[in-house]
Amino acid sequence: MSDRTDRTRLIASATRRGSGRRPVSPPVERASTLLNDAPGALRDESLGPVYGIEDLSAARELRALLADLEGAADVWLVPSGLAAVTVPLTALLRSGDEVLTTDALYGPSRRFLKRHMGARGVTTVFHPAEATTGAVLAALTDRTRVLLIESPSSLTFEMLDVPALAAACRARGVLTVMDNTWAAGLAFRPLAHGVDVSVQAVTKYVAGHSDLLMGSIAVADPAVGRSIAETLEDLGWRVSPDDAWLALRGVRTLPLRYAEQARSALIVADWLKARPEVAGVLYPALPGSVGHDLWRRDYAGAASILGVVTRGGDEAAAHALLSALELFGLGYSWGGFESLITHETGQLAGRRSPPKLAGELLRLHVGLEDAADLIADLETGLAAWRAAVS
Ligand SMILES: *Cc1c(COP(=O)(O)O)cnc(C)c1O
Repeated sequence: MSDRTDRTRLIASATRRGSGRRPVSPPVERASTLLNDAPGALRDESLGPVYGIEDLSAARELRALLADLEGAADVWLVPSGLAAVTVPLTALLRSGDEVLTTDALYGPSRRFLKRHMGARGVTTVFHPAEATTGAVLAALTDRTRVLLIESPSSLTFEMLDVPALAAACRARGVLTVMDNTWAAGLAFRPLAHGVDVSVQAVTKYVAGHSDLLMGSIAVADPAVGRSIAETLEDLGWRVSPDDAWLALRGVRTLPLRYAEQARSALIVADWLKARPEVAGVLYPALPGSVGHDLWRRDYAGAASILGVVTRGGDEAAAHALLSALELFGLGYSWGGFESLITHETGQLAGRRSPPKLAGELLRLHVGLEDAADLIADLETGLAAWRAAVS
């Protein structure tokens, strides 16, 4: 089974024999309570879950598929991608501990560390987004309990040498948690590279249709898994059966959507890079882009999200560009079937050392539309931008 490709295994799990006549997709099981025929059955664990918080069929199937993709001993589902970051940190950090992470961390994860963990005696140290492996390791102290990795990072997409960092941290007894949303559990497998906890926003590519929020937490080591399972048990968090069902539907087509969107994103990135209005494209899969060498060494695919830096201009010009677009929705998030664009310069202000950019920062998510149509739309947007800056 294991030498079949991801795309085959994700589908073969639906068609395997031995479960009798049934629909291809399981019915949605909405339940807090599962009824039993006899009092003795109430405590019989071999009969399966007895209460909704133990996860019902769609969530269990989704967990098994994600565990297969991640090479994990176990996977847990939580109600958002943000919760997939906050639960392991809650499980692994204690008052007096330090956590080290990138200055380009996903904004809500940063807020959680500063506000929630800060109030509970955990100190966060930020390393520069473009730090070398040596510089990241030099920022570890004897109080560092966790290195929180996000690579590529949010908005500016800097990359870290994850295998080197994971190996060095393991040797020093520092746990590694990686936000692997960009790779969708497909293009990079953190656990196989020595990372302790791999999390992703299922919200993005796995769900794939911008219609639900979910996160997943994957571990290889059962001891780390136990502390995460206990934290979830203590906090009482589970996902809804309807959301699990939708995410299970999404994961069947994940490899195809992910690959096709990356193909279009590279075409769009290449086109943007050559435009006079564009000072730079931040996309590790693009030759010449920051992080490209590490991406080529370690990754088997790419997300379809790009940072685009305009050559000069101001917020009004960026807004003129966004306003002129018809195909790119104006909205946050990514990984869905639809293209999206946002103006992100303001988000960088929260960093300790914001990057010095040649213009405004836009973030494009490339969806499943035809790349040529997206480029024509962007051409209209850039014309509006030129009119606004002249
Ligand atoms: C979107 C995102 C999250 C959070 O996911 P939600 O489901 O929106 O909470 C976490 N990390 C990264 C890198 C993301 O892009």
